[in-house]
Amino acid sequence: MRISIDKKSSIPIYVQIKNEIRNIIYSGMLPSNFLLPSERKLAEELNVSRSTVISAYEELKSLGLLESHKGKGTIVANNTKNKQLSIRNHTVPLSWYQFFDSNVSSANNHDIVDIINSVGGEKNISFSAGIADPILHPLKDIVKLQKDLWKNCGNDMLAYISSYGYYPLRESLSRLLKSRNISVSPKEIMILSGSMQGIDFIGRAFLSKGDVVIVEEPTFMSAIELFKLSGAKVIGVPMENDGINLDVLEILLNKYKPKFLYTVPTFQNPTSIVMSLEKRYKLLNLAYKYQLPIIEDDPYSEINYENIYLPSLKALDTYGYVIYLSTFSKTMFSGMRVGWTAAPAQVIKKFALLKQMTDLHVNTASQYILDKFLREGLYENHIKLICKEYMNKRDLMLKILEKNKSLGISFNLPKGGYYIWCKLPENISQTQLLLKCSKEGVSYAPGNVFYPEGSDGKSYMRLNYTFENAKNISIGLNKLMKAIAELLQNTNSSTVNQDNYFGKPII
Ligand code: PMP
Repeated sequence: MRISIDKKSSIPIYVQIKNEIRNIIYSGMLPSNFLLPSERKLAEELNVSRSTVISAYEELKSLGLLESHKGKGTIVANNTKNKQLSIRNHTVPLSWYQFFDSNVSSANNHDIVDIINSVGGEKNISFSAGIADPILHPLKDIVKLQKDLWKNCGNDMLAYISSYGYYPLRESLSRLLKSRNISVSPKEIMILSGSMQGIDFIGRAFLSKGDVVIVEEPTFMSAIELFKLSGAKVIGVPMENDGINLDVLEILLNKYKPKFLYTVPTFQNPTSIVMSLEKRYKLLNLAYKYQLPIIEDDPYSEINYENIYLPSLKALDTYGYVIYLSTFSKTMFSGMRVGWTAAPAQVIKKFALLKQMTDLHVNTASQYILDKFLREGLYENHIKLICKEYMNKRDLMLKILEKNKSLGISFNLPKGGYYIWCKLPENISQTQLLLKCSKEGVSYAPGNVFYPEGSDGKSYMRLNYTFENAKNISIGLNKLMKAIAELLQNTNSSTVNQDNYFGKPII
């Protein structure tokens, strides 16, 4: 307790001492029952007479701020005035869930998100997340080109930058998009913190409670979640082998007058389906007929094993109906969080405003590094390398699945992208399989999470093959197949199937 007095002041010393102690108690720094120095000790410390301190303490007692107890000395009183100032003893912990916005509260997939994002390591072989193989990160090139960059533009790389993004990177992306047959100027491109931020901005810029967004069914889990977060109703249209079912789509367009259609036309997540050229044209015509803006999400088109180069919707769109999103997360690495959008100028302008309000801009250094990587012509070779490696991993996974077909599983043959979409045998409980796999240290993404109404995909699993190495793919997938076989044996002896895990704890 620090008390300062001014002996030259006209205010009596005992009043100064009283005021100092009173203020300290009011500030909450002295809790109830705090033992004050004895009158003699404080008098010595302040170099005043003991009677001066006694007078100060007496005043404070009369105010109800101090108490004296025989054998205990003088303590801060435990009275109501003090209680108001000090921390309550019996406060009930705050139930934060009561305060969440209802849209956030309904996003309840924490356990599933944990499973999907559970990343490998010795104890867990992960087929769940959609992550690039870290061994294939172009680390050497990045380290090399960074050295020059820090030396020559270090200060710029540490400074604020435009909310639209680093202009040279926007130029480089304009050139990259030309190779995808998309003709857009750098000004129609904006850099985002991953392409997911584009989905978030669409929600914030365009969607209100009750608006409808149509998505492919199944589709990218986070897109469903983000649209729901903005209050929109998310309606699914079934996928066919060549893309979205356009007849159903047209019925829904009439029924719901949706604000957007969200599609991943090339090597879709989770099915790896490629929308046919015919459907791309038909979809655009429907969009023009019904004034339907399209969100085209394109993270996977370059991860292409069989030279399937269909033009993107953005490339075919002549009337500016498409907001195009893409990212380096799948082709390079996800941690730099650099994605981009190519969209009509009015949209880009609004997104830049949102970006400015949210986090100003994407990390400057990352943008310089990726721009240089593109300018040095390193990107094309890197893509060739990862395609070769990922194709080998895909083949290995397909081989093991093929060997286990007699279990009753069926699956697609992805021609690009990151995933195999696998149908489980009838009567397999997703819950039990997830639990069993978790015990065995293997994870996959349960089909439910890719459907706006989660229960629909319960007989599917999404298997990622890019992340793990060949040895782990082999060990992990064999464990997964063994788990299915054992569950099938159990199911034959008891017919109970409890597939109601969605939204409830799994592990
Ligand atoms: N869109 C789709 C279809 C995806 O599959 C993913 C990654 N799983 C993303 C967007 C997210 O990409 P980013 O890391 O750039 O936000």
